[in-house]
Amino acid sequence: AEKLKKRKIAVLGSRSVGKSSLVIQFINNEFVESYYPTIEATFTKSVKYKGAEYDCEVIDTAGQDEFSILNSKHAIGIHGYVLVYSVTSKASFDMIQIVYDKIIAFCGVTDIPCVVVGSKVDLESSRQVTPRDGEKLAQEMNAAWVETSAKTNFNVTKVFELCLAEIEKRAPRTGEV
Ligand code: GDP
Repeated sequence: AEKLKKRKIAVLGSRSVGKSSLVIQFINNEFVESYYPTIEATFTKSVKYKGAEYDCEVIDTAGQDEFSILNSKHAIGIHGYVLVYSVTSKASFDMIQIVYDKIIAFCGVTDIPCVVVGSKVDLESSRQVTPRDGEKLAQEMNAAWVETSAKTNFNVTKVFELCLAEIEKRAPRTGEV
């Protein structure tokens, strides 16, 4: 049998943008208000995508601000990044560029597999960030972009499929497992 491809994915972003909710919805298919306090946790799930089976390790990070949001642990052995902002928070959107720049600096590369995610899209009436703004920022980072709701389970699987695609795009030849 073919060996599972291991893919480590780190989920980063400001506090309360819904990182844990997104990860729990992806892993357990449920939305739980205030699932657990902000502690770092790792989850695994096997995902079939484009005919291949991936063993995904998803790291739900617990940084509080621009200083603690990324540490060296998140720069080593990570294949792809999910950068989450809430469409209801301009401040969380502004944090995406800061986190991205930190990853680039930490990793010492200029192009990383990355998905920019606008969360809580079910809260349309509280929107502060337009789809156009999100898409534009992602383009500048050569990243994928998607809007999601962990609450309604909208585009949640898509987030992780896009991340796998971004990873594969950059490592198409190696047959790395
Ligand atoms: P984290 O700190 O980034 O891990 O954020 P949490 O996952 O703990 O979520 C912060 C708050 O936002 C909690 O009260 C969640 O219930 C809520 N939340 C998370 N995702 C969504 C969503 O898609 N829609 C709505 N309406 N609320 C959400």
